[in-house]
Amino acid sequence: MYPPLQAVLFDLDGVLVHSPLDLPAIKKELFGDASIFIIEGIEALPEHERDEKNDILRRRELEAAAKATLDPAVHELFDWLESKSLKRGIITRNSREVVELIVKNHDVDFGAIVAREDAPPKPDPGAVHAVCEILGVEPEASVMVGDFHFDIEAGKNAGCRTVFLETEKFKHLEPVADARIKSLGQLKGVLGNWLEN
Ligand SMILES: [Mg+2]
Repeated sequence: MYPPLQAVLFDLDGVLVHSPLDLPAIKKELFGDASIFIIEGIEALPEHERDEKNDILRRRELEAAAKATLDPAVHELFDWLESKSLKRGIITRNSREVVELIVKNHDVDFGAIVAREDAPPKPDPGAVHAVCEILGVEPEASVMVGDFHFDIEAGKNAGCRTVFLETEKFKHLEPVADARIKSLGQLKGVLGNWLEN
């Protein structure tokens, strides 16, 4: 039902990169105990408050990005994707500045990058469409890999296959994805199956 796979789209945090970014702590610093998503919460504020909160968020994100590590499976996985002629890209709610810092610190090529300045935040499918357009592939020929239900919803809303990576933080989530894996290293097995069938 899907056309042959041509591209793999990744969420960044918790999937390719592990950082001490503590979103609940940042949320508390910005909004107290309000139950709100950070980016959407900031967007809803009057302009002067928005700038102030954005500055705090930017500082906290850069601090965490400076300490980020690549998942140990990344390099081998990217080599394997290249050996199978699969393109790659990332879709992240991080800022482009944060992504660029990680790229520089780890000398890694994530492929096409769609950061939060570039498209509406997941679960909106806009970012998936944007990264597919950069890569020159259809969403139906792509797979979205993420560790949060927004990643899976964004992928499905765009028409992609989806793979949910179960992490300690979000293992209670049960999004309806085409596959569920417990480590990034297991992705090759899933993709290999799809390439053969
Ligand atoms: Mg994530």
